[in-house]
Amino acid sequence: MSIDDLPPLREVIREHGLSALKSLGQNFLLDLNLTSKIARTAGRLEDVTVVEVGPGPGGLTRAILALGARKVVAIERDRRCVAALADVAARYPDRLEIVEGDALEADYRALVSAEGRACIIANLPYNVATPLLVGWLSADPWPPWYESLTLMFQREVAERIVAAPGTNHYGRLAILTGWRAQARIAFDVPASAFVPPPKVTSSVVHIVPRPHPLPCDLRALERVTEAAFGQRRKMLRQSLKSLGVDVGELLGVAGIEPTERAERVPVEGFVALANAWVALRKGSATDGNAGGPQDVSVASS
Ligand code: SAM
Repeated sequence: MSIDDLPPLREVIREHGLSALKSLGQNFLLDLNLTSKIARTAGRLEDVTVVEVGPGPGGLTRAILALGARKVVAIERDRRCVAALADVAARYPDRLEIVEGDALEADYRALVSAEGRACIIANLPYNVATPLLVGWLSADPWPPWYESLTLMFQREVAERIVAAPGTNHYGRLAILTGWRAQARIAFDVPASAFVPPPKVTSSVVHIVPRPHPLPCDLRALERVTEAAFGQRRKMLRQSLKSLGVDVGELLGVAGIEPTERAERVPVEGFVALANAWVALRKGSATDGNAGGPQDVSVASS
């Protein structure tokens, strides 16, 4: 099936006056070889419903449909882009559903309910890319409704997603990702591939959820990593003081040296810390003190 029998993307952009808005992170991809390469990174799409965030003028949308996705549910905030996608919708009857709205607010399970296998593919708007990823990785229940995430990020964010312990980029994002999924950088995309070009290099990241992450309360993991990386250069015996339990006991139960620093502790160590924290808080609650993991707020990055 060819994607060449649609109007060229530059024409679509001109016709619909799609001047790129910085406030919506609009950096469009017009090279259909590149959009096909991104879509292929997700694997076989034949039986799959693809959720695309921010279809824009539709370059990636065309590639996903041409590769045979059963259906694309495209969520777009910019009304001008929604109008510009009419030709693509007409070319692929019944296979493109355009949802006008904010991807941060979307009820994804409802959008793909009864649709069978699903994945997300997106050239993300960079201003909301990290909160979107954190939201997808925080899905409840787990395993999530999607089989994979194939996402374009700024290279620096991609490095934070896949970072290993002991490296500069290792932090809360790598821990959440590593706990719930396996992630790799598939390839880099130069700034010159986008219209208009962003200031930085970008990377496509492929993320596959782990069916059985190590048992752990998400909010507790968020809380301990927030404390640990709030003072990332300090020893844990210092940085974890804000957790409101005996830090020596906490580290002892988790099996972590008090002199260790956050950036060297692997995901398994943070899971052990989160579980130990929940257990110690429960213990102190039974002793008469209020509180438990329920009162922990979920951090968004
Ligand atoms: N997919 C297109 C492409 O590759 O050429 C456009 C990608 S552009 C980087 C990001 C797109 O996301 C824009 O079309 C923008 O309007 C849209 N967008 C920005 N914020 C959004 C949000 N919160 N929810 C849904 N779409 C959003």
